Amino acid sequence: MKQQKRTLWFVTGSQHLYGEQTLKQVAADANAIARALNDAKQIPLDVTAGPVVTTPEEIRTVCGRANADPECVGLILWMHTFSPAKMWVTGLLSLNKPFVHFHTQHNRDIPWDTIDMDFMNLNQSAHGGREFGFVTSRLELPRTVIVGHWSEPTVLDELGDWTRAAIGWDETRQLKVARFGDNMRQVAVTEGDKVAALARFGYEVDGFGIGDLVAMVPDADDPAVRALTKEYESTYAMEASLRPGGDRHADVVAQARIELGMRRFLEAGDYRAFTTTFEDLHGLPQLPGLAVQRLMADGYGFGGEGDWKTSALVHVMKVMGSDRPGGTSFMEDYTYHMDPANTLVLGAHMLEICPSIASAKPRLEVHPLSIGGKDDPARLVFNVDPAPALNATLIDLGSRFRMIVNEVDAVASPAELPKLPVARVLWRPAPDLRTAAACWIYAGGAHHTSFTTSVSTRALEMYAEMARIEFLLIDRDTTVREFRKELRWNDAAYRLSSDGRF
Ligand code: MN
Repeated sequence: MKQQKRTLWFVTGSQHLYGEQTLKQVAADANAIARALNDAKQIPLDVTAGPVVTTPEEIRTVCGRANADPECVGLILWMHTFSPAKMWVTGLLSLNKPFVHFHTQHNRDIPWDTIDMDFMNLNQSAHGGREFGFVTSRLELPRTVIVGHWSEPTVLDELGDWTRAAIGWDETRQLKVARFGDNMRQVAVTEGDKVAALARFGYEVDGFGIGDLVAMVPDADDPAVRALTKEYESTYAMEASLRPGGDRHADVVAQARIELGMRRFLEAGDYRAFTTTFEDLHGLPQLPGLAVQRLMADGYGFGGEGDWKTSALVHVMKVMGSDRPGGTSFMEDYTYHMDPANTLVLGAHMLEICPSIASAKPRLEVHPLSIGGKDDPARLVFNVDPAPALNATLIDLGSRFRMIVNEVDAVASPAELPKLPVARVLWRPAPDLRTAAACWIYAGGAHHTSFTTSVSTRALEMYAEMARIEFLLIDRDTTVREFRKELRWNDAAYRLSSDGRF
């Protein structure tokens, strides 16, 4: 999958009131800050020092240039001095890239012994930022406000998360999702309005008959199939029966054929996310297991049973977290451990969990699948290391999209689970299972999620702001009573909103 070049622009607001000398100093200070952000390890993109803007025309021009530049995924806007904000109105209304209002100043400390009125005129972010904030509030523009000195690591961390949200939003705007077959029949939460998704997120969801995929699946004696099964042998732990000459080798070959067919199909159409359903596999020998797991490990989004919303979310979160340790996978809340002393959720799926979250070298295994009526599918089996993690879901309520995030701790399994032949992860949800599951269910959260150890709650919340969708968090501070109030208040607010967004 090709990685595109992405950058951020650092644009500084000022005005002509203070004279040329002051504007020269403003530009020098802005360049110093942009350089520091560009060099900061917390910010995963290049930061380009943009202009100091002082008139409505200059602001409209820079916003228009940002809109037209495919490499620019967002703007960092800083008011060095007072920048009378009516100047910003028409430019900001035309801007279709996300922006962060960075409320900082060049100096960290007040120079107690030398401060005079020249210094005060030059360094007035404290009120310049408020003037800018008024206009962005008045215009109801989606944005993130980040406050603090630009050298502070916690401030840079927050800018890093905003950058990941901007990367995710840019990826969302150009994403195409392929669906092999339709939804699992009768399932409600995996349905949704694909026109609304195109309008809200900008991603396209295209359906295909399974025969179009089957036509691209190579024969078993194709050299590419042999090369791929060799790669499996060198990448995964596997028993002799799965290797060439073994009585289960044909089952591994079947997944190699499916993987090659899927890769060709997805690359030909520039699809970066896809769905399958076990109810529509005509012409495929097995439910795609290993094939899906390996495609997810390469960055493709996946959703089972036709779940295109989760598939898109998995891909976008993979891109958002690509500079961070850990990984992201399609996931399903499967079953509970309800021991009150150690309450846990076991997450897994029929087969399709991404090895980007595997704790060690995965084992390739072949076992029967009790649903679907197909041959025994090959799949990777592994555990997940203990780590802070989260589950995110995106649902379509008919009138709007809602994202729900539950922070969890992935924990070591208390036992080996020798009879469970799928990749799995155990987690303890925050604040506790009783609260977390009740809130999730009151909110209508899906059984499918995007599980991640590499993307933060904060980055997802900023992403939801860019998409102008509802965002609900279940974390250590959540109580059922307060959460239910938030649901009711949000329902009221969205019904009052003219276009179903805030
Ligand atoms: Mn499922």
